[in-house]
Parts: sequence; C-alpha cells; structure tokens
Amino acid sequence: CGASPESCNTSHRKHDLPIHGVSETIVGVLGGGQLGRMLCQAASQMAIKVIVLDPMENCPAGALSHCHVVGSYDDSVTVEEFAKRFSVLTVEIEHVNVATLEKLEQQGLDIQPKASTIRIIQDKYLQKVHFARHGIPLPKFMKIDDPESAKKAGDLFGYPLMIKRKRLAYDGRGNAVAKTEEEISSAVQTLGGYDHGLYVEQWAPFVKELAVIVARGRDKSILCYPVVETIHRENICHIVKAPANVPLKIKKLATDVAYKAVSSLEGAGVFAVELFLTEDGQILLNEVAPRPHNSGHHTIESCFTSQYEQHLRAILGLQLGDPSMKTQAAIMYNILGEDEVATNLTGLICYRLSCLQGEPGFLLAHQLIGRALGISGATVHWYDKPG
Ligand code: ADP
Ligand code: MG
Repeated sequence: CGASPESCNTSHRKHDLPIHGVSETIVGVLGGGQLGRMLCQAASQMAIKVIVLDPMENCPAGALSHCHVVGSYDDSVTVEEFAKRFSVLTVEIEHVNVATLEKLEQQGLDIQPKASTIRIIQDKYLQKVHFARHGIPLPKFMKIDDPESAKKAGDLFGYPLMIKRKRLAYDGRGNAVAKTEEEISSAVQTLGGYDHGLYVEQWAPFVKELAVIVARGRDKSILCYPVVETIHRENICHIVKAPANVPLKIKKLATDVAYKAVSSLEGAGVFAVELFLTEDGQILLNEVAPRPHNSGHHTIESCFTSQYEQHLRAILGLQLGDPSMKTQAAIMYNILGEDEVATNLTGLICYRLSCLQGEPGFLLAHQLIGRALGISGATVHWYDKPG
C-alpha cells in the first residue's frame, strides 16, 4: 500500500496488509464512516497518512484514506494485525474490540485516547457510573435485570422512563421510552430483552440539548470549543447551531461540566460531550464520545481549527489549535435520507444563521443541496454512504 499505485486507495483483503516504503506518520483508525472520512481530509492537508479498518468495502472513508483494510474492528485477530503497524492508533467509533486494545497497549502500542477510556465509554452504564463517581451531574440511573427491578426503577424515577441498552447504542438505536409501568415490557422487548444488558435513566426534562467538543493534548492540556445547541430528529443529530443561543452563565456551566468530564478520562484526542439544559438552568451530562462527533462538523468551516485537525494534532502530540469560531455563527443541517434520492447521509454547513431557519422540514434533499450550493458561505458535505 502506498508504494504501488494499483494498491493505493483500494480495499485490501482481510489480513492482506503490506505496508512498506512509508516513513511518514501513519495513523491507524478503527472505523471508516463519515467521521473517518473527514479525518482523512484533515490528515491529507498535513501529509499524515491514514489507514482505516472497516468491514464495509465501500465505506465512506475508504476512498479518501491512504489505504483501507477491509476487516472487522470487533475481531481480535484483525485488530491485532492491523494495529501493530502504526505510530498511533485511534478510533472513529467506540464499538471496537477493547480487550484487544488493552492487550496491545500493555505491549507498548500507542492508542489515543487510551483503551481504558474506550472501555468506559462503550458501555453507557459504566460511563454513567464513572461520571457519577467523578461528581459530574447526570440524570439518575440504575441497572435493570428483570421486570421487578424495572418496576422499582419506575417507582423511584417516575414516568416517562428512559430505558437504554448498555452497549452498541447509537442514533437512538438502543433507547426505548416507557410512558407508563405497563409499557415497560414492550420497551424492553424492542431493546432485545433484559439479557442484552439494560439500564434506566430518569427522564431529563430538558429545554435544550447542548454539546461541547473538548480537545485534550498528550500533555493533558485541554481546550474547549464553543457550546453548541443540537436538535435531534428521531434521535439523530439533525441541526446544530453554533454558538448555542443561551446565556453566558449557561455556556460557562456547560463548558465546566464538559471540561471536568473529559479530565476524568485518559488519553489524547477530541471528545464530544452531550448535555441537557433543564428549565431551572441545570446542566446534566448525557454521554461522551471519545472521538470527533456530528455536533462538531461545523468546525470545519466555522472554527480556526476543525475538530478533525485537532484530533490529529492531539493524538500526535502536536500543539493544539485555536478552537474558537472565525465566523459569527454556523448551522449544520443533517440531511438524512429525506427522499429516495438521498439515502446517503449529508451534512450541510451554513454560516449565516438565518439562511436555512424556517425551511419546511419536508424539502427534498436534492432541493436543499441545490439551495445550499447557491448560498454564499454554505458548504455541502456528501458522505457517500452506501444506502
Ligand atoms: P445515542 O447514543 O443514540 O446518541 P443517547 O443516549 O444520546 O443515544 O440518546 C439519544 C437522544 O435521546 C438524546 O439526544 C436525547 O434527545 C434523548 N434522551 C436520552 N436520554 C434521555 C433522558 N434521560 N431523558 C430525556 N431524553 C433523553
Ligand atoms: Mg447521544
């Protein structure tokens, strides 16, 4: 890979990993989705080579990576074989084989953020236990193993009750709401039953969802991006408004909670901290991602250092860049299969706060993209995700 034009940028068969003739920095990335793709874009600007491991032949990062190894980031042999070749290994998804990462780390492999962080974060319940221990404000939570413990949680926390799967949850897949005690069993069923490992959270009566991207260097220095507001549609991050339209005091509180949460984790990189703002001005932590995040796409166009460049700087021990905004405001609009033409995910990033607000939600993706192309300051990102 890299040396021969025929193999560069093409998918390799599983375990067929010839990497030679490359002396520059090579970053290995577990996962080749849209976040990996955007990481590759930032890397190319700095002449950093990115090699991704992803099971999908036509994964979004594949075309932009220096090399794409086709294989599962959940398979220990594949991860081991893949990981050993890099100066530094990172993730663009947390659902990876963490036991193998821990073993490799003990053998001296440089993994950023640390495997211990990925272990905590990939299990939402463990995450909650960890942050509660560190004094981070959270919705109340408890593990449930059977109908009795679920009923007890309902009695304690009230309804609606948020039931979550501990592991392998993303885009709301892994969450179910029971509005009443009677709904617990069907909610549990949609999550695959108690054997899947479930826990419950007290309903957070939020007025807004906020997020903060936090960058942590290898020297443990921390920089926070401006607080943004995230609006979800069907549990998927749909609109991001940067900066969030909340009082300064709330921004400070959200940044403090995010800072404290990331300080409790080990390793370098960018982290996304999802937060709830309640009516009485409290900030509660929802969850943390140990990687670039949808709520930080806007940083590509709107901040001095994008979250992707920052992640690379952080994991490679380079000086962190300025996270502040170079535009007054930005909006990210995530077009999510709004019609059959757009089964792909697309991020639409726009500088001027007013230009897409108030648009009817049923605009077709291609119409939106067409409109965006005609707006100065708007950028379309097409992930090229297989439908
Ligand atoms: P995912 O891993 O899919 O992002 P989250 O746990 O972040 O799952 O939940 C997805 C969305 O569900 C959140 O962004 C929020 O809108 C809602 N949500 C999650 N937990 C709660 C809660 N305890 N109370 C109210 N809403 C919640
Ligand atoms: Mg979330």
